[in-house]
Amino acid sequence: MTNYAIEPMEIPSVAIADTDETFPVRRIYCVGRNYAEHAREMGSDPDRDPPFFFMKPNNTIIPDGADFPYPPKSENCHYEMELVVAIGKGGKDIPQDQANNHIFGYACGLDMTRRDLQIAMREKGRPWEVGKAFDDSAPCAEIQPASKVGHPSTGAIWLKVNGETKQSADIADLIWNVPETIEYLSSLFELQPGDLIYTGTPAGVGPIVSGDLMEGHIDGVGDITIKVI
Ligand code: MN
Repeated sequence: MTNYAIEPMEIPSVAIADTDETFPVRRIYCVGRNYAEHAREMGSDPDRDPPFFFMKPNNTIIPDGADFPYPPKSENCHYEMELVVAIGKGGKDIPQDQANNHIFGYACGLDMTRRDLQIAMREKGRPWEVGKAFDDSAPCAEIQPASKVGHPSTGAIWLKVNGETKQSADIADLIWNVPETIEYLSSLFELQPGDLIYTGTPAGVGPIVSGDLMEGHIDGVGDITIKVI
């Protein structure tokens, strides 16, 4: 047994639907810009440039139903509703026609973003962590195993804030679909069981304030509800 000098952190995990098992989270990869309308609203060309990635620490996960504390040092914190892919089998250089074999399941997630800090870093060519990788920045609802729900490639994705629809799109509109994203990502990093991929958000991102209720949905995957405090 390892003789740790301090108490090691617990492995962050996400609930799995209809079981008492949980999914241990290793890394959280995020796709930066993956719906054309959202690329336009962020001032980018939505042409099919190769996908780009950033990461959040695994301990930024918070579960469905949790409170999201409004983060410090920001006056413009945004929601980004996303389809999350949970990797069950690792690999590198995974061809897209094999990608589904590496997927454990799917979940609804929110890529919470300190937009003011992200844009300030982007403009200076600095890393995005302060904008993206802050505490509690990765709400993730329970995982639906692919063995139950298959591999959804079309279906509505939406987010409401206080009952008002803010984002509404279809996961078929992903610029890089899930198998293509896995092929590209696994050429850069060897994927491992426990990795999550936040696949990008559709148009309509915007700010939240304390007291707001965020409710997201993806057809065939489920729902997520998070309150801002
Ligand atoms: Mn995002």
